[in-house]
Amino acid sequence: MNIYADNAATTKMSEAAIRAMTDCMYNYFGNPSSLYRTGQIAKEKLEEYREEIAKIIGAEPREIIFTSGGSESDNQALLSAAMIGKKKGKMHIISSAFEHHAILHTLKKLEKNGFEVTLLPVHENGIIRVEELNEAIRDDTCLVTIMTANNEIGTIQPIGEIGSLCREKGIIFHTDAVQAVGHIPIDVKAQNIDMLSASAHKFHGAKGVGFLYCRRGIVLSNLIEGGAQERGKRAGTENLPGIASMAASLKQAVENMESDNAHKTIIRDHLIKGLSEIPHSALNGDAQKRLSGNVNFSFEGIEGESLLILLDQKGISASSGSACTSGALDPSHVLLSIGRIHDVAHGSLRLSIGEDITIEEADYIIENVKEVVAYLRSFSPVWRDLVTGKKEFILK
Ligand SMILES: *Cc1c(COP(=O)(O)O)cnc(C)c1O
Repeated sequence: MNIYADNAATTKMSEAAIRAMTDCMYNYFGNPSSLYRTGQIAKEKLEEYREEIAKIIGAEPREIIFTSGGSESDNQALLSAAMIGKKKGKMHIISSAFEHHAILHTLKKLEKNGFEVTLLPVHENGIIRVEELNEAIRDDTCLVTIMTANNEIGTIQPIGEIGSLCREKGIIFHTDAVQAVGHIPIDVKAQNIDMLSASAHKFHGAKGVGFLYCRRGIVLSNLIEGGAQERGKRAGTENLPGIASMAASLKQAVENMESDNAHKTIIRDHLIKGLSEIPHSALNGDAQKRLSGNVNFSFEGIEGESLLILLDQKGISASSGSACTSGALDPSHVLLSIGRIHDVAHGSLRLSIGEDITIEEADYIIENVKEVVAYLRSFSPVWRDLVTGKKEFILK
C-alpha cells in the first residue's frame, strides 16, 4: 500500500489543474504586459482567472493580488498593515501563539522595528477566545492576524466573530487561510475579513503560486519593486500557468467541497476512534471544530520521528509534531501552545488525508500505527519509566 497522508504539507496537483496549466503554457505564453495580441490574450486569461478566484471568496477582482504563495502573502499583508498602523502611531499587533512561521517570523521582524505583539493563547482545544481578543485590543492596535485553520492540528477559528469585532473597532483583520481556502467555505465580505492569504499547492494547484486578498481602500506596501504588474503592488511577470492551475483547482475544490468534507469527516472520525484505542494517547485539538482532513495524535513514551520512519516503511507518508532544526529537536510550537509538555509533544503524529482516501486505507493506517507505537514502546526507556511508575503518565 502507498498512502499519502500529508496533504497539509502539500497536495498532489489535480488533473484539472495540470490541464489548465499546460493549456496555458501551450496557448497563452505571452507576457500580459505586452500590447500585441499574444500578450493581450494572456492578459485576458489573467483577468479571467482573477475574476473566478475573487468570486469564490466573495471578493472583487481588483482585491486579488497574485503572489508566489502563502508565505509571501502573509509577509506582504503583515508588513502593509504595520506600515498603515505606524503612520497613525498605532504599533500594537495581536496574533495567536500557534500561527504559521510565515506569520510568527514576520511579527518578530516587526518587533525588532518597534512594534509590540500580543500572542493570544489557543487553549487546550486549539481555539482562541473572542473575549480574550476583545480584552487584548488597545487604542494603538493596528492589526489582528489570526489563522483560519491551523496547519498542524486543523482547528478552525471563529473568523466571522473576530472579523466583526475588528470591523467594529476599526482594526485591520488579516487571516492566514492557507489551510482553509478550498477546504471550508470562506466569504470575505460576510466574515469581515480585510486581508487573506492563500496558496494553490494546498488545494491541488501548483506550487509557488498563491494570492493575497486585500479589501479595497487598504493600501498595500510592496515586497517586490519593479514593473507595474498587479496594480503596482507586486512586480514581476505574472506566473500565468501557475495562476491557471490555481483557478482550476480552486473551482473544482469548491464544487466538490460538501461531498469531499462529508467523506473526509467519516474517515477522520474513523481514524480518531481507531487511534484512541492506543493506551496513553490523545487527540490534539478540538474533535469537532477541525478540518475534515486533519488527525493529530500524541502517544506517550515514543518519538515522532521514529514513528514516521517506520510508517514510511509501511508505505504511509505522514508528518510528526516535531521539527528537526539544525540537529536540535524542537517540539512543535503548536503542540506546546495547546499545553502539551515537551515529552508528549515529541511523540506526535499528523495525518492529513486527501479526498480519495478509502476506509480500507484508514484501517491499514490504524493497524500500522498501533503496531509501530507498541514496537517503539517495547524498547523505549521513557516508556519503561512510565510503566514501572518511576514517571507519571500524562495522557490517561
Ligand atoms: C503552507 C502554509 C503556509 C505557507 O504557504 P507556501 O505557499 O508554502 O509559502 C502558510 N501558512 C499556512 C497555515 C500553511 O499551511
